[in-house]
Amino acid sequence: MTANHSWDIDDFVRAGEATVRRLARYVGESQRGETPVIRRTPPRELAERLGLARWIRDGGMTAESYETFLDTYLAEGTRLHHPASVGHQTAAPDFPAALADFVHGASNGTMAVYEMGASAATVELEVLRWMLGKVGFPEGGGVLTHGGSLANLTALLAARASVAPDAWTDGVPGDLALLAPPSAHYSITRAAAILGLGERAVVPLDVDDLGRIDVARLPGALERTRRAGRRPMALVAAAGATATGLYDDLRGVGEFCAGHGLWFHVDGAHGASALLSDGHRHLLDGVELADSIIWDAHKMLRTSSLAAAVLVRREADLDAAFRQRASYLFYGDQEFDLIGRTVECAKAELGLKIFLNLAWRGERGLGEHVAGRYATAHRFWELARERPGFHCPYEPESNIVCFRYGTGDQAAVRERMLAEGSFHLTSVELGGVRHLRVTVMSPATDDKTLEALLDRVPALSPPL
Ligand SMILES: *Cc1c(COP(=O)(O)O)cnc(C)c1O
Repeated sequence: MTANHSWDIDDFVRAGEATVRRLARYVGESQRGETPVIRRTPPRELAERLGLARWIRDGGMTAESYETFLDTYLAEGTRLHHPASVGHQTAAPDFPAALADFVHGASNGTMAVYEMGASAATVELEVLRWMLGKVGFPEGGGVLTHGGSLANLTALLAARASVAPDAWTDGVPGDLALLAPPSAHYSITRAAAILGLGERAVVPLDVDDLGRIDVARLPGALERTRRAGRRPMALVAAAGATATGLYDDLRGVGEFCAGHGLWFHVDGAHGASALLSDGHRHLLDGVELADSIIWDAHKMLRTSSLAAAVLVRREADLDAAFRQRASYLFYGDQEFDLIGRTVECAKAELGLKIFLNLAWRGERGLGEHVAGRYATAHRFWELARERPGFHCPYEPESNIVCFRYGTGDQAAVRERMLAEGSFHLTSVELGGVRHLRVTVMSPATDDKTLEALLDRVPALSPPL
């Protein structure tokens, strides 16, 4: 007798209902702030508590035992919906996007070629069309990738193909350069290394003391690059720098690039979503001058990780990025296949996550989400400035705020907060000095949370 390996539909329904029940409780208690925001049980102890070795060895999980497992699993994780979750730039996902993940997990409409999922591919194409419209690329093209790092790599590959079209077949010429501020996300230098330019090909742009590109000193950087015998492949600016959340002057940089025939890449992983907010769109003024931009939906568009867009102003630039052929996948006219534009072969139904959030909340609702989080961060800055001992080096433009309290070890304060599970925040170095960093992602973070954080920091710090 052979086991029936098809789904037991009743079993699935029971387990699915248990999942919804447990997740509902988890998100509910998280957003009401009834639990610690973070737990850090060491892996060995946690593996024991979850019974991992036994499950792996023996199997036999049922809807009932799964429910118990899931409860512990969720309780031991980090709660992004919690008001005190002000750490990383990861979304507290909205539930329509969560539904999309569930649907994908079951139906597996993998996206490589249209025939593997007409609905999934069509949704991705429409979501991309919508994003291209927002950015102002009417003749543009795009593709969704698993995350911003891969998106940056893809966009810079398109830049490489534009400057050195034969690099794909002949290898990379040794004289290419990538111009970027030292504050650029590490995936930019990583991309330079992966693309075969080498990290040394990254020419650091002059910046102000907050890491923003100094537009007036761009000619000097270009001159230095050319004098060193290098050809600029692209110039990178940030629409929302990772450390500070501050925006580069995209119009200033864009006009300089246009005037000198440079490929202009905007890293909008974090901050491109401000395009949806009437009050914040101006931060991206000039973005339409870019040759390429990336935009993470799993940061401010409230999808789970990962869903990022690579968008280029001229559609053909993206098609030129990859020039490989594989006879079982690539043939004839493949008008609707996006496989020729990505590092990935199969990929998840990324478009559905973005689409369902849009369909549920509307573009306006998502824009209000962005505006709300940006406003809460600004409010934190206002409150912090009024308190003795707090120093904020800049007025926030987005939902990221940096500050210091006193002159003691800032990282130690953060460690104490994580250990007690009171707040999850991060830290960064600005101008060589460590700062604490708040990123407002959860809609549950309110004035009460901010006041509590501003009380807790001094309580865990050496006296002023
Ligand atoms: C988050 C971020 C990235 C990387 O995105 P992932 O989706 O985490 O790979 C790149 N650039 C900037 C500016 C970011 O904030």
